[in-house]
Amino acid sequence: MSTILKGAPVVAAMNEQTVALCEALKAENIFPTLAIVRVGEREDDISYERGVTKRCEKIGVAVKKFLLPADATQEALLAVIDEINKDDGLHGCLLFRPLPKWMDDQTIRAALKPEKDVDGITDQSLAGVFTNVETGFPPCTAQACVEILDYYKVPLSGKRVTVVGRSLVVGKPAAMMLDRRNATVTMCHSRTRDLPAVCREADVVVIAMGRMGAVDASCLRAGQTVVDVGIHVNEEGKLCGDVKFAEAEAVVDAITPVPGGVGTVTTSVLVKHVVEAARNMHK
Ligand code: NAP
Repeated sequence: MSTILKGAPVVAAMNEQTVALCEALKAENIFPTLAIVRVGEREDDISYERGVTKRCEKIGVAVKKFLLPADATQEALLAVIDEINKDDGLHGCLLFRPLPKWMDDQTIRAALKPEKDVDGITDQSLAGVFTNVETGFPPCTAQACVEILDYYKVPLSGKRVTVVGRSLVVGKPAAMMLDRRNATVTMCHSRTRDLPAVCREADVVVIAMGRMGAVDASCLRAGQTVVDVGIHVNEEGKLCGDVKFAEAEAVVDAITPVPGGVGTVTTSVLVKHVVEAARNMHK
């Protein structure tokens, strides 16, 4: 039986710090505020928006929503981003993507001020992850993986870490952030040969493949810590990850659950970024 690395205690510890910083800012008449920009009515977006709004309320961060119709033009979205950039009372911006196909993702991302990019979507934020220069913020999910490993004091320095997935949202930034913890990081993708062997070599395995139950016991061994980033809904309508949890749990030392793992921590990272953005803006 392995240790279950639940997100809840990580969230509690993070929120305590975020609330303290938020209160200190409010005492100086700075009211951390998140702008949420949504185009259309995608169920996934609305559900995440609900979670973020609830977390913001709990911590004392205000939310201002900018809701555009599903057929909004790129110009309309750019105008909203411009308004957010210019408003000193808005400290961070969460923009739901993918955007409608007639919008140019690169143009939209480039329009946002990096200091308000609390979700790590601008090139400047990503460059910051690679160069260790504080511009913008790291993508929240990648940071959530590292927050969990840090909270549970999983040794990383000198350890071998395999990250499965190389997206700019999760895999690549997570790999860089773990490299900064002095782990020896291997990044895998769909062309990686003998993925199970590469996973078994690692002390820590971070799985962000987006393939339900793709990682089974053949990819794992005793002594490992597994971070499962995947989120899927199975045939029974239940949430599950990229890892076959029951198989993995019987083999490895520690594993994050789905639900209740990385996903839980991600929204707390986002809200923490908003409060930090407010602090940075008024330094
Ligand atoms: P993505 O953009 O689809 O990237 C998936 C990555 O996995 C790609 O790099 C892909 O390789 C690699 N991959 C796919 N099949 C593979 C295989 N058979 N062997 C090895 N590598 C393989 O997905 P993402 O946005 O990074 O998200 C990954 C998962 O995390 C999804 O399930 C998503 O729902 C979840 N997620 C969770 C949170 C959260 O808060 N918990 C947030 C965001 C995403 P190639 O590059 O070669 O195609």
